[in-house]
Parts: sequence; C-alpha cells; structure tokens
Amino acid sequence: MSTPNKKLLILPGDGIGPEVMRQVHRVIEWFDKKRLARFETSEGLVGGCAYDSEGAPISDETMARAQESDAVLFGAVGGPKWEALPFAVRPERGLLRLRKEMGLFANLRPAMVFEPLVGASTLKPEVVSGLDIMILRELTGGVYFGEPRGIETLPNGERRGVNTQVYTTSEIVRVGRVAFELARKRRNKVCSVEKANVMESGELWREEMQKLHDAEYKDVELSHMYADNCAMQLVRNPKQFDVIVTDNLFGDILSDCAAMLTGSLGMLPSASLGAADSTGRRKALYEPVHGSAPDIAGKDIANPLACVLSFAMMLRYSFDMTEQADIVEKAVQSALARGVRTTDIMQPGTARVSTTVMGDTLLRELDKLA
Ligand code: NAD
Repeated sequence: MSTPNKKLLILPGDGIGPEVMRQVHRVIEWFDKKRLARFETSEGLVGGCAYDSEGAPISDETMARAQESDAVLFGAVGGPKWEALPFAVRPERGLLRLRKEMGLFANLRPAMVFEPLVGASTLKPEVVSGLDIMILRELTGGVYFGEPRGIETLPNGERRGVNTQVYTTSEIVRVGRVAFELARKRRNKVCSVEKANVMESGELWREEMQKLHDAEYKDVELSHMYADNCAMQLVRNPKQFDVIVTDNLFGDILSDCAAMLTGSLGMLPSASLGAADSTGRRKALYEPVHGSAPDIAGKDIANPLACVLSFAMMLRYSFDMTEQADIVEKAVQSALARGVRTTDIMQPGTARVSTTVMGDTLLRELDKLA
C-alpha cells in the first residue's frame, strides 16, 4: 500500500484551525510511521494570522506554493480581531483568492451519517441511518457572478435589483464530468438538479448533462430533478441519492440542507476541485465546513473530525488512496462507537473529551485497523 511522495500544503489558519489541524498532522505522521502513505508537507499562513505577519490574508509566495502543491489542506480563517479590517484584506479574502486563482469550480460536500451519531439528526433514525450522499455544487458561475447585476433607480423613482443566472456549455460539462467520475467511485448514480421547467439556463443544464451522459458516461445512471422537489426529497427520503450535481445557487442551499441531515457542523468535510491537467490531476483544496469558532478557540475542545475527514477526502479524491481513506473513516466511526465525544456532539451516556483526546482515540483505532 506504500505510495510515492505527495506535495501537501497545510494552511491551518485562525481560531480552532491550528487546533484541529494538529490532529490531522498526527494522522499524517501515523501513516508515515506505518509506511501506508508518505507526504511531503509544508505549512503556510492564511487569514488573520497571515495579515498580522505578512500584511495580506495570503501572500503571493504562499499562493505560489498552493499552485505547485498536489493538494491544499485548509483549516479555518477569521475572528473578531480582524472584523474591522478593510474588505480587501479581511481573512476570508485568503480563501476566496485560493479558490479563484486555483480555478476551483467544483465543490464537493458529502453528507454522511456515522451510525453512533444517528440520534444527532433532527430526522428519524430510519430516514438517515446509513446515509452517504454527495452534493456537487458548481462554484464559480451562475447567478452569483452573472452580468448584468446591480441595483438601479428607474425613471419612476422605484429601485430595481438585478442578478443574472447564466451558464455556458463548457461550465456545465466540466462540472458534469466531475459528477460522473465521482459516481463511478461511489454507487454509480447521478441526479442532476435545476429548474428546467421555468428557467432557460436550467433547460440548457439538463440538455448538456444528458448529452454528456449519452456520449461518455452511459455506464452511470442519470436522473434529472427540479430543485424544489430535490429539497423535499432530501428530507423525505435522502437515501435515494448518490451524487447530486447542481448549480451555484441551488447547490448553496441544497448542500446546507443535506449537511444538516447529519446534525453536526464539527463532522462536515468538503473539497473544492479545479480542472484536470494532462495527467488527470486536479488542483484541489480540502477544508472542514465549519469556521474558526472564536468562541471556543484555544480551549482544546473543538471537534477535529471534520478536518480529519477532509484529509480522508484528499486521500480519496486527489491521490486515489481508497484503502487509506477507508481506514481513516472507519477509525472515526470506531472512535465514536467507543462513546467519546467532543462537546458539540455530546449525547447522553457518552464521555466528553478534548480535541487532543479525540486525536488520541483516533490513533488507537487506526492502530487496530492497520
Ligand atoms: P463557525 O463555524 O466558526 O462556528 C459556528 C458555531 O459552531 C460556533 O458556536 C462554534 O463554536 C461551533 N463550531 C464550529 N466548528 C466547530 C468544531 N469543529 N467543533 C465544535 N464546535 C464547532 O461559524 P461563525 O461563528 O459564523 O464564524 C466564526 C468565524 O469563522 C468568522 O470570522 C467567520 O467569518 C469565519 N468563517 C470561516 C470559514 C472558513 O474559514 N471556511 C467558514 C465559516 C465562517
């Protein structure tokens, strides 16, 4: 199972970012020690800490290292200390610059329910037990970027706000490809979501997805669904889905809806992928969905599992290390099954542990699985 070096840039960021990333470091060291995977890691600053010591939320030098790396692992940025800064140097601009300059157009948000946490969901256990779906959101196009946009005053004095939902064939096809390729590594089903009944951009989305499927991905099952129905189906019967692919706006909403099926922010990983190069390798950034949680930073009580699961996504999607990714996910499952919980996922009858002790437990479970 040993593999060659992989270049990994680690950007812990602010608040709980460095605390949760420390536990990922321990997992990386464990893989190295067991000779199951070896990474060439380096660290950089991003967010408020980068502004403090380098004058920008991400320096050109760190940006260049991100571009050269095989994958970027990102913690979280932001906090009250930097809230009054001008917009251009706010911590969040570091993440936006990474996404923009690395061309990360595909946002992967898995919604996975770990059996010991079934009770954390607001839905009935039988609806979410065993849930494992992937929402793929187009991240760089659509109504958040479309022109014309703005607020204008009409001749009659009324004001009018305008945004434009716009997609081109190539934008649809590139995210469609990611969806079909993801499905091939999962349960081989893609559901493409739009509003083709009332929007021309949705009609084009549906036609292009179908064409791409028929030309290159006939082995994958493709269905189409309107976004409003998808929102209903996600809470009615989420297990009918495997991969859902949708645009920026609908993806924004549906991915949060799907995430909450699992019940906890501290458990949610994500990935953002760019275009494939000639070798098939994509630029990629992996990060927990949660922010820097200033309210609990520095207390060693944050849940490190979202960050650890983001690392597992990196193994799976950037490096094709399926077995290693499975081991990490199984270790998380077993640690939870032992009844250890950080504060955010506490349930009656379980033991409250620190970030570090959750890491210790994870390493013990990894040892058993190796
Ligand atoms: P948040 O995700 O940081 O926190 C929301 C709540 O969830 C808090 O009560 C926090 O304590 C809790 N929480 C979050 N992650 C947790 C974890 N791993 N373990 C235990 N509890 C956890 O969101 P927020 O409070 O809206 O934002 C705080 C800061 O983070 C802001 O500066 C915001 O701009 C930034 N932010 C950054 C990112 C990012 O870096 N990608 C994302 C969202 C928010």
